[in-house]
Amino acid sequence: MSKRKNIVILGSTGSIGESALDIVRQYKDRFRVTGLAVGANIEKLKKQIEEFNPSFVSVACPEKAVELKKNLKGATKILTGRDGLCALTSLKDADLVLVGIVGAEAIYPLLSAIRAKKTIALANKESIVMAADLVRREVRKNNVRLIPIDSEQNAIFQCLEGRSRLDVERIYLTASGGPLWNHTKDQLRRVALKEVLAHPRWKMGKKITVDSATLMNKGLEVIEARGLFDIELKRIKVLIHRQALIHSMVEFVDGSILAQMAVTDMRLPIQIALTYPERWPNDRLRLDPLKIEALSFEAPKNTKFPCLKLAYEAARLGGTGPCVLNAANEVAVSAFLERKLAFMRIPCIIEKVLKKNNCSNKAITLEAIFKADAWARQEARVWTEFYRRKD
Ligand code: MG
Repeated sequence: MSKRKNIVILGSTGSIGESALDIVRQYKDRFRVTGLAVGANIEKLKKQIEEFNPSFVSVACPEKAVELKKNLKGATKILTGRDGLCALTSLKDADLVLVGIVGAEAIYPLLSAIRAKKTIALANKESIVMAADLVRREVRKNNVRLIPIDSEQNAIFQCLEGRSRLDVERIYLTASGGPLWNHTKDQLRRVALKEVLAHPRWKMGKKITVDSATLMNKGLEVIEARGLFDIELKRIKVLIHRQALIHSMVEFVDGSILAQMAVTDMRLPIQIALTYPERWPNDRLRLDPLKIEALSFEAPKNTKFPCLKLAYEAARLGGTGPCVLNAANEVAVSAFLERKLAFMRIPCIIEKVLKKNNCSNKAITLEAIFKADAWARQEARVWTEFYRRKD
């Protein structure tokens, strides 16, 4: 048997991280956990340390790291902050780094992992949305393998495997439509937080569940797909596919369409990323075709769900456009989660900020990206306050 794969998991107490550890648990003799990184959930991390015995852990919050140090036995070393994250990604014996943390901060450990020439399993969207060109350039330069975990991107990755980009006619990104697809415009205006968080197909974190309801999640995925696969924007189409069994499709120039089907469970794309290029047997994640009643497809409705259109607009703007879109969305969504903002105000705020965006810049640097990010957040906060008073 080949040697064990040493893996580092960033965001190990989040939903992606826990699913990844579930895969590791299933193949204990084939994986070793070298490093784990978390934000502040040290109670869960303590349990993970006991079970997986990593050499290093990193905790974003320094006070929590001190607390952890006090009541931790064993040889695990504790790091903190951004430096800790980046140190984990360049550990000498790490073979694969799973980037499962949310938010823009992920860009630092991602770039660090690429430069350390690690294989990367990427679940973080923001880093690609904000800095696709930069990431692609570094991936090429360092000749590393980047395997997307997001179910749609993972499906496209599988369909494209071994084929030339020149043979691709279009990519169909599928979307379940989220919990509000059949709501009327009037219902959408009055929709409660609880309804928005009740996703019919996927169990995910709160931010991404709201993004699924507005279709911004699909918009971000359009930008992500363009960045990951270097495909022109006009070749990326979104299809509403309520059953969420086809995770995306690729149409080739000869008219063939390849689709990837599987159960609606993130553990499968995670396993594919962790074991790539091999496929390891798994009896738990099976799809029975006889149990599928129908597969349906619809075009997205732009008037009810303007976020998708806004994402295409930001992508067309180029430069820091996608970064501004992402930042404005994050601010608006967190205001909605705090019950400070009505659901249909989320696209309003993004549109306002995008219109005012003057940060576009062709030569993208990390500095320009974070400057645009900060500007857009500030601007979005102003608009949030405006609508809060108005409504
Ligand atoms: Mg997805």
